[in-house]
Amino acid sequence: MSRKVIIAGNWKMNKTAAEGKALVDALKPLVADVCPDVADIVVCPTFTTLAAVIDAVKGSNIKVGAQNVHWAESGAFTGEISAAMLKELGVEYVILGHSERRQYFGETDETVNKRLKAALAAGLKPIVCVGELLEERETGKTEKVLFTQLEGGLAGLSKEDMAKVVIAYEPVWAIGTGKTATPEIAEETHNYIRCTLNDMFGKEIGEGVRIQYGGSMKAENAKELVAQPNIDGGLIGGAALKADSFSALIHNA
Ligand code: PGA
Repeated sequence: MSRKVIIAGNWKMNKTAAEGKALVDALKPLVADVCPDVADIVVCPTFTTLAAVIDAVKGSNIKVGAQNVHWAESGAFTGEISAAMLKELGVEYVILGHSERRQYFGETDETVNKRLKAALAAGLKPIVCVGELLEERETGKTEKVLFTQLEGGLAGLSKEDMAKVVIAYEPVWAIGTGKTATPEIAEETHNYIRCTLNDMFGKEIGEGVRIQYGGSMKAENAKELVAQPNIDGGLIGGAALKADSFSALIHNA
């Protein structure tokens, strides 16, 4: 099955509104030749930079995502943002369950699942992150960890909803470390994720789900990674913070 490539930049806690606009203004002409039928290009700024970036991407082939969303519609949740608030702004995608959220902010498979359902109900397109720690890989627990994250994070989803979800496989040991998974290791793991999705939702759905690789992806390794049969794009941190490196990565992928 052919799946459309999706390259998303996760800006993390970088770029003020003015800096985000400047980045998008520089990126737009560099990626204008990328046909939207061939690849989705997404940038995911901080909440406070979203509005400026949504304005800046108008008329271009660049889409915008948020980095998190709360599950409640409204209420006493100081510091949180709802799906309706993101929708109103014009946000299209949302990253959920990034390992930094799991590591520093107590995110669990259960809270990922609640956020995922709220995002889907509001019509946002979720990018659900999964990935193992170095110690888990070294002790042979990778598949077990991924299975638990997928089973918990995607629990109770209908086939119809699953078809709208993007999975990002991000081995935690590769994030921001410069240590990329080899294309062979990444493909083997993506294939495991694909098989698990096929078991959970049926082949018709599982084969259609886009699975991004994330973790020190850059222009130099993007081509080889995305050439693998089960790698459908990338979730990019560091290399997405500059227009020239992100554009080079997109073209290579
Ligand atoms: P990195 O981050 O590309 O800087 O390794 C990827 C991510 O955390 O999404």
